Amino acid sequence: MRAAEVHSDITEVLVTEEQILERLKEIAAQVDADYAGKDLLLVGVLKGAIMVMADFSRALKLVAPIDWMAVSSYGKGTKSSGVVQIRKDLDTDLTGKHVLIVEDIIDSGLTLSWLLENFESRGAESIEVFALLRKPDAAKVEVNCRYVGFDIPNDFVVGYGLDYAERYRNLRDVAVLAPHVYS
Ligand code: 5GP
Ligand code: MG
Ligand code: MG
Repeated sequence: MRAAEVHSDITEVLVTEEQILERLKEIAAQVDADYAGKDLLLVGVLKGAIMVMADFSRALKLVAPIDWMAVSSYGKGTKSSGVVQIRKDLDTDLTGKHVLIVEDIIDSGLTLSWLLENFESRGAESIEVFALLRKPDAAKVEVNCRYVGFDIPNDFVVGYGLDYAERYRNLRDVAVLAPHVYS
């Protein structure tokens, strides 16, 4: 469903499905060029990255396996706890692989910087990050993110895989959640 169909729960549509798919094509073309001839592994961070992984991986011309990692740092609230827990680890040995982590959003950056450090000890040939969304004003730690879809304001957003208490992931667009929903 489109974000506009739950208009009383949102204050603004920030990025439409059409804008996302356009941007994913551009980034996929860059990734195709950057990883030509390399052993690329896509690693998605569950659950938020499910939609971006589905659309981004299919926009690639490269054949690349997909693995998933589940971590949690948010619980039910809207603020990062800073404490990262592995809920599901990778099935793949990273030795010699060129890893591209696919993330829904970089907010404080705490989750990704923890993940990058964790991956660095696993023998990957290279590790880069693609985040569909990034909130520059929320950064608490610097994360080296090679590919970014959209920089957005420091608001809590839902849709296109992003949830509030597991809801709204199935909105096609990215929208700002109305404060009355979580306060
Ligand atoms: P960070 O550690 O960078 O603060 O964010 C960790 C995770 O929290 C993100 O990967 C994402 O799943 C979730 N998150 C951060 N900001 C938002 C947001 O605005 N909306 C939603 N739904 N999740 C967010
Ligand atoms: Mg995430
Ligand atoms: Mg969440």
